Amino acid sequence: MNWKQAENVLVAGVNSPVRAYRHVEDDPVMIQRAEGAEMIDVQGNRYIDFIMGWGPLILGHAHPEVVEDVREAATRGMLYGLSHPAEVELAAAIIEAVPGLERIRFAVSGTEACMTGVRLARAVTGRNKMIMIEGGYHGHSDIMLGSDSAGIPESIGGDILKVPYGDAPALQKIFAEHSNEIACLVAEPVAANMGVMQPDIDFLKLARQLTADAQALLIFDEVVTGFRLHYGCAQTLFEVSPDLTVFGKIIGGGLPVGALGGPWKLMRHLAPEGKVYHGGTFAGSPMTMAGGLKALEVLKRPGVYDQLDRLAASLQDGLRTAAKNCGLPLQINRQGSMLTAFFAEEPVRGVDAVTLSRRDLFAQWIRGLKRQGVLAPPSPYEGWFISTAHTEEHIARVVMVSEKLFAEMVEAARS
Ligand SMILES: *Cc1c(COP(=O)(O)O)cnc(C)c1O
Repeated sequence: MNWKQAENVLVAGVNSPVRAYRHVEDDPVMIQRAEGAEMIDVQGNRYIDFIMGWGPLILGHAHPEVVEDVREAATRGMLYGLSHPAEVELAAAIIEAVPGLERIRFAVSGTEACMTGVRLARAVTGRNKMIMIEGGYHGHSDIMLGSDSAGIPESIGGDILKVPYGDAPALQKIFAEHSNEIACLVAEPVAANMGVMQPDIDFLKLARQLTADAQALLIFDEVVTGFRLHYGCAQTLFEVSPDLTVFGKIIGGGLPVGALGGPWKLMRHLAPEGKVYHGGTFAGSPMTMAGGLKALEVLKRPGVYDQLDRLAASLQDGLRTAAKNCGLPLQINRQGSMLTAFFAEEPVRGVDAVTLSRRDLFAQWIRGLKRQGVLAPPSPYEGWFISTAHTEEHIARVVMVSEKLFAEMVEAARS
């Protein structure tokens, strides 16, 4: 199978834009299979993977225990179209891990769960406007994309008010001007879709206070952060409680998933209990629920998050030192087991700083890593993800290869 064949039948050869490698002007990779922390392409090249499915694969590829339970679930029937115990058990596990949650509704994607959360907020408040953070990502529904995509009528996408990342005065101004029109504020507690950003907990606390004062809902999109930073959500670590929480990625164990969670007083508005419609053929799919249950069970074992944090710290330190040795300005934003490295003189905070960073150096580095058997996200707007399948050897290899590449990049810039 070659790339031409893909381009002849899929748009740009892909099903999600970032996979086309356009940010780094490189050829895409076609994967044959994956195991642990590694992926093998159709030519048989082996890579250390830091894309990790863009976040879900915190246990690495094809974790044996997860695979076993998903396989077993498949043999008992792929889909029932009716209730089954595993969805109850996974909902209970999530509720147990996140204080304040009383009910869960499973969906098939983070996109769908975010969209449903906003629909619920609009129904409960009887208002339409929604505040989002510039550079935040909450899936690709019309209501969340607004003017970021063609084909969305102003009447549907026009109710979004955007605030620059961490800009408290701007947030206060929006609430002062629109207080009684705002249905909700949606934010990632740790932004991970403009590259990883260091969290601004004061800003999150301000968002909590302003939404409460305005009787609007605070929705945390924990699609990435849920079960990524510890066994639970970022909201618990930061001690900021949203009204609704959106999940995805990790809670499906690598299978398609999304979920909305909140207290009964809000969740009871979902159909058939209430008037806010949400449903789905594949919602709560038995295989996804089995994969998610096993993933959470493994994550709950002692030491898992310490191990992830240690590895990620060692990657951060190694890359930092390598760049310093070569005289390259590398800024690394890391939160637990996710990080993004930007070529910039100053710390990178917010999407504008990402856009202003040295994208040419970034592209050179990522292309070089790929040639040397390391797959890192081919966009500075994405995070690297460490899994429990990564080892110190993997990290050491990336650091060594990077230092060589950095030296070459400096050399190339000189000549
Ligand atoms: C990935 C992501 C989504 C969308 O989830 P999908 O399953 O891709 O639809 C929503 N919000 C955040 C923060 C994400 O990272």
